[in-house]
Amino acid sequence: MPRIAYVNGRYVAHREAAVHVEDRGLQFADAVYEVCEVRGGRLIDEHRHMARLDRSLGELRIRPPMTSAALGVVLREVVRRNRVIEGIVYLQVTRGVAPRDHGFPAAAVRPGVIVTARAMPLAPRDARAKRGVSVITVADNRWQRVDIKTTGLLPNVLAKEKARAASAFEAWFVDEDGYVTEGTSTNAWIVTTDGAVVTAPTDRGILSGITRAVLLDVLRRRDLRLEERRFALAEARGAREAFLTSATTAVTPIVRIDGRAVADGRPGRVASELRQALREAAEVAPAWSGPRNPGRSDI
Ligand code: PMP
Repeated sequence: MPRIAYVNGRYVAHREAAVHVEDRGLQFADAVYEVCEVRGGRLIDEHRHMARLDRSLGELRIRPPMTSAALGVVLREVVRRNRVIEGIVYLQVTRGVAPRDHGFPAAAVRPGVIVTARAMPLAPRDARAKRGVSVITVADNRWQRVDIKTTGLLPNVLAKEKARAASAFEAWFVDEDGYVTEGTSTNAWIVTTDGAVVTAPTDRGILSGITRAVLLDVLRRRDLRLEERRFALAEARGAREAFLTSATTAVTPIVRIDGRAVADGRPGRVASELRQALREAAEVAPAWSGPRNPGRSDI
């Protein structure tokens, strides 16, 4: 079955999907994005993703291409056309196409929209979480607006590649004061020796992860001590548990940091329980059953 992408109002064959050479997403990474998990063919935490997209667009003064509801229709349609049951849907909004010039183009330029979806079965992700993953650490050399979910991800790309070269799953960014900020595409957490669950605050240096936010809600409803504060790499090394979160990894235990075992080197109990609790707490969007979607179809 051929894959289908949505590009600027059309559903097209994935292998032929293309943007203009002067799309500002391509030229300047002048674009924002979201990745939503799909489970049972349904979008997970759609409303929070749309709210974050709105915020990213607002911070960069990119005009919303359509309403969140209309975007939701396109996301569902791409999921449906690709028959994704377990996987992800990717949405990118760019400032649009204009002759290359750093300053913003005229207000009339239409923002670009790209949506793709792909299957990513849950079983291997669950198996990975059961084993636990390794992280390495790298200096956080990113710009100061990592709270905006832009496609400008080169430091993240380089750090992830370094992790791969070291046979690790993720790289944790460590700021110049020695604090762990977040991973290249995940938020970072520890469970301290006295049982507090700790993650960095969103006021500086991290992306406000949707999974992080949902997990905070879960933690607040439970009898677990929660601390939103910075934690140093040294504290993480001596922690009882460490784990990471994102839409695609959910809660995944970390068993090694820079090659050294975290506690006994096995996935922690708290992280494993939170993985389960998170799954139950997610907002599951209704399956699509409305009128036909906006946008033309070339298929
Ligand atoms: N931090 C960064 C830098 C990310 O790219 C991501 C993935 N979008 C996350 C954290 C986790 O965010 P979410 O839970 O929304 O997937």
